[in-house]
Amino acid sequence: MPSVFIKTYGCQMNERDSEAVAAQLLARGYRLSPSEHGADVVLLNTCSVRDFAEQKAISKMQNLAGAGRHQDRPPLLGFMGCMAQSRGVQLATDQPEVRLVLGTQKIHRAADYIDDLLAGRQQQVVDTAEEARSQDAIRDHLPAAGAGRPVTAFVSIMQGCNQHCTFCIVPFTRGEERSRTIPDIVAEVNMLVSRGVREVTLLGQIVTSFGRREYPVLAGKSGFVQLLEAVQAVEGLDRIRFTSPHPKGYGEDLIGAFGRLSKLAEHAHLPVQSGSDTLLKRMHRGYTRERYLDLVRKLRATHEQMAVTTDIIVGFPGETDEDFERTLSLCEEVAFDQAYIFKYSPRRDTPAASMPNPVPQDLIEERHARLLALINRLASAKYQSLVGKTVEILVEGPSRKNATRFEGRTRDNRIVIFPGSERHRGHLIRVRVERAGAFTLYGDPAILGLEPPRPAVSEFPERDALPA
Ligand code: SF4
Repeated sequence: MPSVFIKTYGCQMNERDSEAVAAQLLARGYRLSPSEHGADVVLLNTCSVRDFAEQKAISKMQNLAGAGRHQDRPPLLGFMGCMAQSRGVQLATDQPEVRLVLGTQKIHRAADYIDDLLAGRQQQVVDTAEEARSQDAIRDHLPAAGAGRPVTAFVSIMQGCNQHCTFCIVPFTRGEERSRTIPDIVAEVNMLVSRGVREVTLLGQIVTSFGRREYPVLAGKSGFVQLLEAVQAVEGLDRIRFTSPHPKGYGEDLIGAFGRLSKLAEHAHLPVQSGSDTLLKRMHRGYTRERYLDLVRKLRATHEQMAVTTDIIVGFPGETDEDFERTLSLCEEVAFDQAYIFKYSPRRDTPAASMPNPVPQDLIEERHARLLALINRLASAKYQSLVGKTVEILVEGPSRKNATRFEGRTRDNRIVIFPGSERHRGHLIRVRVERAGAFTLYGDPAILGLEPPRPAVSEFPERDALPA
């Protein structure tokens, strides 16, 4: 059967979409290739959040097409994901070797289209139309069991976003908010737990808006909190995480859920973007600095170890020195556990792209460096404060940094490396933190507690390869 290589750019939502496509193809008898070399089908799952990500994918495709011209059987080349959605047929016009362009609501059609293209029933497919209930289609996972079985999994719960932040292209590439049903999501989580998964991350472009239309507020609880309660009830599951949320979505019900739901991990990702009210307004974020700080105080009151992480944009059009200083002072005040800092990049069709007073690139670079140094100092102090403490980790497998060691994550989402073995995979264990590196903790070999093993209920063949 033909082999397929999928290269993924961008966020966890794209990783999840790639996994769903890989699972579809595997179920049809295709093989997954660990690299593009020798693959019969090469798909690039693209990201549009920054111009750099788009240029990288386009340049990769040009290289693949160029290499294919010297091959007897060039691979079938395709784009999928956010850039495929926003650029559509233009991608196939600019690069005639591209025979498949698949939009974000058509991911589940990938296997049908690839079958048709390989069999010669179609020469080229461009499908970026909207499709009702496409949010229900991202549910297939790669089969895996035995020693290499995954302990954590992503579960797509909704697609799209209605917030329309002025810098963001996502509402144009992912469409309007559309949620899956709670029973459907719970069934998927149950299936994953039966395979040995013990932690799920609920995924969506703005997860805190889950079910706003479909699930009316019940006893003061939003649709998203109703979903968290339903997932909490899944037997055999240990931890629940979610991403990406919006600060506006952290109502009293969600803050209360952190104190009430034992499986909801003590980590709140709260994308702030700026510490300046002027910029927050121009970004159309829907909260003020004061409201944000109040939210952080309330969240930290629910748990002593509540980690708060964020996303920040530097160099948004019109960002003055004062605006930037407000961002620095907000970071000091919150003392974030981690922050992802983005240099502003104009995206076509977004309101911010035509705003006046763009910030010169050298100033963006300077502000980025200053903010990064501050975040590293704040985060390092947090990591150092854990040395000597005992933490609970869920062991995920061999360390990605050092294959002779194992790694797990704390409930507040910190990686801990320790000298474990395969028998620890999937267990909750308690380790003493010996030392802290940059965004990594190192655990004591003396494991203080090991739960009884909980093997996967179902056995599945090993996966051929992970989607790249
Ligand atoms: S809430 Fe997030 S996904 Fe939605 S428009 Fe704003 S930045 Fe983009």
